[in-house]
Amino acid sequence: CGVFGIYAPEAQHEVAKLAYYALYALQHRGQESAGIASAHVGGHIMTLRELGLVNQVFDEQKLRALDGEMAVGHVRYSTTGSNAWENAQPVHRSDRRELALAHNGNLINAVELHTELREQGLSFRSTSDSEIIAALIASHPAETVEDAVEAVMQQLQGAYSTVIMTKDRVVAFRDPAGLRPLCIGRLGDRYCVASESCAFDIIGAEYLRDVQPGELVSISDKGLHVRQAVVSEREAFCVFEHIYFARPDSIMGGQRLQASRGRMGEILAREAPAPNADLVIAVPDSGNAAARGFARASGLPHDDALIKNRYVGRTFIQPGQELRKHGLRLKFNPLPEIVEGRSLVVVDDSIVRGNTTRQIVQMLRDAGAREVHMRISAPPLRHPCHYGVDMSTREEMIAHERTVEQVSAELGCDSLAYISLEGVYEAIKGERAKHCDACFTGEYPLAGTDGHEGKYAL
Ligand code: SF4
Ligand code: MG
Repeated sequence: CGVFGIYAPEAQHEVAKLAYYALYALQHRGQESAGIASAHVGGHIMTLRELGLVNQVFDEQKLRALDGEMAVGHVRYSTTGSNAWENAQPVHRSDRRELALAHNGNLINAVELHTELREQGLSFRSTSDSEIIAALIASHPAETVEDAVEAVMQQLQGAYSTVIMTKDRVVAFRDPAGLRPLCIGRLGDRYCVASESCAFDIIGAEYLRDVQPGELVSISDKGLHVRQAVVSEREAFCVFEHIYFARPDSIMGGQRLQASRGRMGEILAREAPAPNADLVIAVPDSGNAAARGFARASGLPHDDALIKNRYVGRTFIQPGQELRKHGLRLKFNPLPEIVEGRSLVVVDDSIVRGNTTRQIVQMLRDAGAREVHMRISAPPLRHPCHYGVDMSTREEMIAHERTVEQVSAELGCDSLAYISLEGVYEAIKGERAKHCDACFTGEYPLAGTDGHEGKYAL
């Protein structure tokens, strides 16, 4: 998911529009639903959320109705909770205090918390773990919302990059492992928060820094206030954000992702060269940066050979195997003149189920390619994500209980190689000890998620 929050009284009547543009830039983080909540300082919260893309959910008239001086927004992609309207965000609760909440991540103690809260007499309208966070904060007896959030953070386990809006402020907080991204921007004298820095660029805000793991950031009339609400014992930022999930123009861990992904391609060329190939091509768009890096390091020419229909969304966001298979044909078309008779290095960022990759290999062969050498700028995906990326189950993953040679045979390519995990950390200039790479290694950074087979859904 993608989240955004802004406190900007000077931008009266425009905060919803700013949220809209920011969500537009975060659309890649979730395409199932979109929503914005806005409020005047001291007033009540208005929320509009709907299934669909940002530009399907909102129009001029709806944005004008979302008046106010502060706003929070959300784009959703479901991990726990089904793809239903009730699960769209921002979540609006007014148990003791009124608030709207937007959450990216996945709680691993949602079931326990849900049971507890229901026993206390609270009722829920959705099946998403995000409403649990909202209910805990909204019903908390602490005097200030910051104290309530700090207390609630001690109860939450899992991944939560969260933004809430109350009657007079916007509060953002991030789990102590810092699993999902969250950063702070400045717009004039005011502040905003977003999942990725690309959301600041689109509204002309300046990226200041990341919200630190376990940190709570409060934005109000008094400016920006920060406190360390939970001690961070083990940082575990999602390495898959660097590889695939986030937009290449975003900055994470101090690195521009486009540059890191280019380095992944260079390292891949060093680790798994294809000296007899004629041409490097990318699987667009997710393989573009790494393909250029591979070409740069190998000295091989680089060209576009697969044209992507840019109006077909990320196929993986539509749940279900069948839909995925259908989605794929719509997405790519090869250029026979470029492919014909060539030995190709085909670079992509990751292989999950292998359906896309298998079809691309076949498509390139049908278009006349002599050889197809797949090079992947992620290690083999073999384990499910419990922290907010819907990777599908172990059994669906093509590399699950298969060697690289076996996967290569399954995909029908002439050779297949993945970047090493060390190569990934070299490319992102980050330490392994501060990241999560559980979907590659099976080493889950949070206690209790090792070897967990079940979902954490309600
Ligand atoms: Fe990211 Fe993979 Fe860890 Fe999930 S398991 S948080 S996708 S690195
Ligand atoms: Mg892709």
